[in-house]
Amino acid sequence: MLEMDLRLLLPSLVPSSQSVYVLVFYFVYLAVAGEILPGKVIRGVVLSDGSQLRYRCNGLFALSLLVAILGISAKLGVLSPLVVADRGLELLSATFIFCVLVTLVLYITGRTSSDKSSSLKPHVSGNLLHDWWFGIQLNPQFIGIDLKFFFVRAGMMGWLLINLSILAKSFQDGSLSQSMILYQIFCALYILDYFVHEEYMTSTWDIIAERLGFMLVFGDLLWIPFTFSIQAWMVAFAQQSRTNTNCFVFLIGYMVFRGANKQKHIFKKSPKTPIWGKPPVVVGGKLLASGYWGIARHCNYLGDLMLALSFSLPCGISSPVPYFYPIYLLILLIWRERRDEERCAEKYKEIWAEYLRLVPYRILPYVY
Ligand code: NDP
Repeated sequence: MLEMDLRLLLPSLVPSSQSVYVLVFYFVYLAVAGEILPGKVIRGVVLSDGSQLRYRCNGLFALSLLVAILGISAKLGVLSPLVVADRGLELLSATFIFCVLVTLVLYITGRTSSDKSSSLKPHVSGNLLHDWWFGIQLNPQFIGIDLKFFFVRAGMMGWLLINLSILAKSFQDGSLSQSMILYQIFCALYILDYFVHEEYMTSTWDIIAERLGFMLVFGDLLWIPFTFSIQAWMVAFAQQSRTNTNCFVFLIGYMVFRGANKQKHIFKKSPKTPIWGKPPVVVGGKLLASGYWGIARHCNYLGDLMLALSFSLPCGISSPVPYFYPIYLLILLIWRERRDEERCAEKYKEIWAEYLRLVPYRILPYVY
């Protein structure tokens, strides 16, 4: 596959009308489902002007319904389950063009907006490229839809749909392996878990601190679904891997990732809730220093990194390509953690200094 002739590769990068229809159908479905399907309505964090955005967390419902619709369409022969696997490159280039266009529109509408609210006030640096790349508004909306929340949802669901299509292809080819099954189960659990806990997303860095520009739109819509599914392609060529080790890494990673995010989420809502059966250690009434948050300041990143590794392990060790995702995530999370700590040091001042003293490790205890 890697030696694929460039002459064959280049035409498949030009989006066909079918790939554009698939993308349009997908976005329209998500927009309509997000608005009309029932789901818990969550208030976001309090913004600097005292306002709070609302998020309808119905992603699990929307995803289940979409998979059911696609399953029935495949059964009736209306839509091939292989459409995504067969047109992966075209979909990738169509999504890339969409990302460029949407971020240009975001930039122009942001610049001309006179809204003074914290979520929409434009932050313009004067450097056009910088502002387009990083975005200028915190939470831009389109017909009442919070675009940031929408794009991350589209990316996570897209990842599952690409994986399922590759799974269908390996069924058809008769190449379904134990490694493929393991990879598919791990990813499906991770993605379903994301939607079960979708409300936790509303207090993450991306939603509360990052402005919506090309970097985030590209990351959500293209990077998550297309590069995270590299392993699904690679696993087809994998030698048999160690199932027990893979399951162990996945389970421990999941426990740490979900446990840490949950502890912080519960702490923010009700700061006195016991952690691991004991009253929580709280610094300055604001920062949690027990449970996972007493082991390292970003144990949730450690769990996420272990999960990323578990998605790659089923591919074996014959090629470094499947390890692209954990390596990318490692770099991203170290960069993220540095920026987050700068923000927290500014926000919490001496309370943060005290937290650093109590919990000296950033991600991996005794190492980093
Ligand atoms: P966090 O969920 O760790 O959020 C950081 C914020 O939490 C800080 O800005 C601060 O905000 C608050 N906080 C930090 N320490 C404490 C503490 N001790 N007690 C109470 N509050 C604290 O980071 P992210 O939003 O970056 O990540 C969320 C999840 O998403 C992680 O599990 C991460 O691994 C995952 N993720 C995955 C990516 C992927 O590509 N797979 C990419 C990025 C993230 P405040 O001002 O509210 O106090």
